[in-house]
Amino acid sequence: MIPIAKPYIDDKEIKAVSDVLKSGTIAQGPKVSEFEKIFAEFCGTGYAVAVNSGTAGLHTALSSAGIKQGDEVITTPFTFIATANTVLMQGAKPVFVDIQEDTFNIDAKKIGQKITKRAKAIVTVDLFGHLCDYDEINEIAKDNKLIVIADACQAVNAEYKGKKAGSFGDIATFSFYATKNIACGEGGAITTNNKGYAENAKLFRQHGRSNMVGYDYSNVGYNYRMTDISAAILLEQLKKIEVITKKRIENAAYLSKELCKIRGLQIPIVKKGHKHVFHQYAIKVGRDFKLTRDELIKYLNDKGIGCSIFYPKPLHLCEHIKKLGYKKGDFPIAEKLSEQVLSLPVHPHLTMQEMDYIIDAFKEL
Ligand SMILES: *Cc1c(COP(=O)(O)O)cnc(C)c1O
Repeated sequence: MIPIAKPYIDDKEIKAVSDVLKSGTIAQGPKVSEFEKIFAEFCGTGYAVAVNSGTAGLHTALSSAGIKQGDEVITTPFTFIATANTVLMQGAKPVFVDIQEDTFNIDAKKIGQKITKRAKAIVTVDLFGHLCDYDEINEIAKDNKLIVIADACQAVNAEYKGKKAGSFGDIATFSFYATKNIACGEGGAITTNNKGYAENAKLFRQHGRSNMVGYDYSNVGYNYRMTDISAAILLEQLKKIEVITKKRIENAAYLSKELCKIRGLQIPIVKKGHKHVFHQYAIKVGRDFKLTRDELIKYLNDKGIGCSIFYPKPLHLCEHIKKLGYKKGDFPIAEKLSEQVLSLPVHPHLTMQEMDYIIDAFKEL
């Protein structure tokens, strides 16, 4: 089976973990601080705060930016559930805006009509590793005094006009889950240039504890700390990030060169000025393709080719979110793409032979 994802780990990470285990400091310690410093520099932001998942990062970002009960948060229905669930965790309401057909990202032109007096923030999602239209989004946000929180969980090292993911919006969130472009198993981080947000985040991840030495608590908080074991893995992953990104981009180009010739398939696009880091290589299976999308999945799986649907159901149709007043038909593009989208393997371990095998499987059809 050619897997849909595989972590890019070698002896360097194994040694780093073993060194931490021998050091005696295995929870949050010096490796976490070192990772935060290097990751902030990498993203080009003033601050990075490490947490133990992307979901914890989103929750921390929302809380740090002051999102609370009764607020509305504008976001996309075409994303992982954590984007909306963390809004609900703060007692706020996710207000969805339909997506662009080409990038799968929130359609900036449709945001304006959804802004009410209760709107406090926009949570953008840089889906599959392609950044949103931040020039437009930041302008709308400025005009309407909205905070922009970027869910960059899939977009580490993505760029727009030479600026990196993490530096767009007021605060951004990353995930280092096992399948993400750099990974430590479970992990996450927020990045920001806002000192206040960074300080809030450090309290929130640690029970609202304002003093590492004493036990002084100033607010409700969680235990969202990253361990030094995870941070040590991420420090090694960051040394490889350019290699990992380059391989994903090359693999995507290799697949696209042949798959673009197949009738009924649409390959991923990269907009001008963007560096797409291909967390997912997502094709669209159109009506004029030989098989339905679901028949294609079975065909590929029978040939030993892993593939997955991200995402089979737009979030406004999930049971607990539907109850807020959403129904089928509300976001036609997100609904249509959820029936057409399919992710093929693009991870850095893929060999030329494996990619040829995938391409041939399509050609045989
Ligand atoms: C992975 C992911 C998350 C959640 O990250 P976890 O580390 O799994 O909690 C949130 N949003 C998006 C878009 C993701 O891809």
